[in-house]
Amino acid sequence: MLNFAYHSPKTLADAIDAIRNSGGDILAGGTTMVDLMKIGVHEPPALVDITGLADLEGHEIGPDRIRFGALARMTHVADDADLVSVAPVLTESLWKAASPQLRNVARLGGNILQRTRCPYFRDTAYSQCNKRDPGSGCAALDGGETSHHAILGGSSGCVAMYPGDWAQALIAFDAEVHTQGPAGRRTIPFADLHVLPGDTPEIETILQPGEIVTGITVPVVPALKASHYLKARDRESYAFASASAAVGVELDGDTVRDVRIALGGVATTPWRARAAEDSLKGKPLTEKTAREAGRIAFADAKDLKGSAYKIKLGADVVAGALMTAKSRAQGGE
Ligand SMILES: Cc1cc2nc3c(=O)[nH]c(=O)nc-3n(C[C@H](O)[C@H](O)[C@H](O)COP(=O)(O)OP(=O)(O)OC[C@H]3O[C@@H](n4cnc5c(N)ncnc54)[C@H](O)[C@@H]3O)c2cc1C
Ligand code: SF4
Repeated sequence: MLNFAYHSPKTLADAIDAIRNSGGDILAGGTTMVDLMKIGVHEPPALVDITGLADLEGHEIGPDRIRFGALARMTHVADDADLVSVAPVLTESLWKAASPQLRNVARLGGNILQRTRCPYFRDTAYSQCNKRDPGSGCAALDGGETSHHAILGGSSGCVAMYPGDWAQALIAFDAEVHTQGPAGRRTIPFADLHVLPGDTPEIETILQPGEIVTGITVPVVPALKASHYLKARDRESYAFASASAAVGVELDGDTVRDVRIALGGVATTPWRARAAEDSLKGKPLTEKTAREAGRIAFADAKDLKGSAYKIKLGADVVAGALMTAKSRAQGGE
C-alpha cells in the first residue's frame, strides 16, 4: 500500500507552504493524479488538495478577456450557454473531452496539466521509459506500438502525445496562465507552458515546484466567435483524439483577416500550426485553400510505425474545422 500525507489548505499561502514543507504534489479533481498513484507510476510523499481554495473557482466573460479560475469544473464551463455563443471552441473542446462523470470532477488547471497516455509510461512492467525513469530508454521507439504517438515535436528520447483537448483552444487563441508560487506571481503565455521532450522528457512544463496555476485568461478577438473544435477519435465518447483541430476565423467577405489553427492528438505538446495560418491570411477561405492549410500543418510531421494515418486524417480535420468556422463567420451554424 502507498502511504502519503494529505493536506487540505484553505488559502493559497498555506497551500504553497504545505507543498514546500511536505515535498508533495498538487491535487485538484484527482482524475489524472490518483490514477497514476493507483498504477504505481507516481508516488508523491504528500498530496496538497487545493479544492478548498474558493478563490480559484468560477469563470467570467468580460468584454476584452475571458477569465477561468483553475478550479472551475470542466462541466460548468462546457455548459455555459453564454460562452457557447462567444467562444464555441472553448466549450466544444471541453465537451468532447473524457466523459460526463470525469468532467464533473476534473478542474481546468488539472486538465491543462494532465499527463500523457503513452501505454509504456503508464505500465511499470515496461522498464524503458525516459519520461518515468530518465535515461532508461523508450519502449515505444524501441519496437513498441506507436500508432497513437506524436508525429510532431518528438525527440529520439520520447514521442509521447499530449492528450488534452482544451489546451488546443487555449494555444490557438493566445491564452495566458496565471500562477502563484514560492517566488511570487507570474503570467505565462500558454504557448510557453509546455516544453518539448528533447533530452529531458520528464520535464513537461516550465512550472517550478510548488507553483500553483490560479487562473487562465483568453483575449476576446473576433475569430473567437467563429471558432470550432473538431475531434476525430476511435469512439464518439470517452476517447482521446486521433487528430483534432481548434480553429477560428475572422473574414472580410471571403478573405481571411485572422485565422487560428492548433492541432491535438498529433504532437508532444499543445501545437499551434502557424505556417498553416500564414498560408491563409489575406486569401479567400475555400475548400481548396482549407485543404492546402491542412497539408501545410503536417508538412514537418514524422510518422512512426502505424501512425502515418494521422497525417491524412489531421489534414482533413483541419480543413473540415475551417469550413465550419467559415460558415459560423458568415452567420451559419
Ligand atoms: C478515462 C479517461 C478519459 C479521458 N479522456 C480525455 C479526453 O478525451 N480529453 C481530455 O482532454 N482529457 C481526457 N481525460 C483527462 C482528464 O480530462 C484529466 O484527467 C482531468 O482534466 C484532470 O483534471 P483534475 O482536476 O482531475 O486534475 P488532477 O488529476 O488533480 O491533476 C492533474 C495534474 O495537474 C496538477 N495540477 C492540478 N491542478 C493544478 C493547479 N491549479 N496548479 C498546478 N498544478 C495543478 C496535478 O499536480 C497533476 O499533476 C481523460 C481521463 C480519463 C481518466
Ligand atoms: S514515448 Fe515517452 S512516455 Fe512513451 S515510453 Fe517513450 S519515453 Fe516513455
